[in-house]
Amino acid sequence: MAKDIRDVVIVGSGCSGLTAAIYTGRANLEPLVLEGHEPGGQLSMTTLVENFPGWPDGIQGPDLIENMRKQAERFGAELRVGHVTAAELTCRPFVLTVGKEQIQTRSLIIASGASARWLGLPSEKALIGHGVSSCATCDGFFFSGKEIAVIGGGDSAMEEALFLTRFASRVTLIHRREAFRASKIMLDRARTHPKIHFMTNTVVEEVMDVAAKEVTALKLRDVLSGKVWDFPCSAMFLGIGHTPNASIFHGVLETDEHGYLKVRDFVHTGIPGVYACGDVADRRYRQAITASGTGCMAAIEVEKYLETIGQ
Ligand code: NAP
Repeated sequence: MAKDIRDVVIVGSGCSGLTAAIYTGRANLEPLVLEGHEPGGQLSMTTLVENFPGWPDGIQGPDLIENMRKQAERFGAELRVGHVTAAELTCRPFVLTVGKEQIQTRSLIIASGASARWLGLPSEKALIGHGVSSCATCDGFFFSGKEIAVIGGGDSAMEEALFLTRFASRVTLIHRREAFRASKIMLDRARTHPKIHFMTNTVVEEVMDVAAKEVTALKLRDVLSGKVWDFPCSAMFLGIGHTPNASIFHGVLETDEHGYLKVRDFVHTGIPGVYACGDVADRRYRQAITASGTGCMAAIEVEKYLETIGQ
């Protein structure tokens, strides 16, 4: 039977939320994990993960997530499909709204992640994991010796482009305007790199070849002249930013100027009993292992908090 008041609810089922579920499950807290609108988080959209310790031959992102789910369930976590639309955090217990249901909980772990921004093209969506990626650290290695395109004009795009020069024969940075948001230092580094070529005032109209299930070229358009042409390449990396999934907490929890939840001592929000971990509170590292690490920290803080309130 469902518990009236939960000891802990975890919002989000990426590697941070699932790590928190494993730890709170092993502490006999019977965590409820609300899976959110992207169950499994960003890992569930990648292919081979080669930098998560413990997998010497790598592991597919969806398999890694599935393993974490099973591990969490083995320790008593309940995973439920559901998206939190409102959170009342000024009362005790806290109250979360999920559809028509209200869930009460003594503590809360927010692990709702950040969603990579995409261009929104159907062909782009069809080729995610097959040459289209939003994570150079995760997928750059697979394109050794290949021509790679990076989209964006901010620091993320410069960082991705510079990182990808380790593998690519050439990196072409495609930006929709002439002016860049990137900091001067990052822009200069990219501009002076012999492997990076800049293409401005240019947008992507289509990613090819969906039928072949691999990236072979981009259909590009010059926004000034209207000229359209095919640009051959083997991969397209998006560096157009991430959006933290924190909007329902705005005004209640402190956020930075980009909307990420602000934490102190790694995972503490301004409300005792409410912890934030993973990418929703991390604009800097954004790795599976760091998200898992802070998920573990949030779980340990929940245990300590429940002890202090006598639960
Ligand atoms: P950002 O500064 O917001 O830049 C996003 C870029 O993507 C912009 O150039 C934007 O073009 C472009 N873009 C957005 N939507 C697009 C679309 N639909 N089609 C084509 N282009 C699109 O984001 P960010 O680069 O992720 O940086 C976010 C913050 O993190 C910044 O404060 C940055 O300094 C920081 N950061 C720092 C580092 C570092 O210091 N090592 C690394 C990464 C990020 P427009 O300019 O035309 O809008």
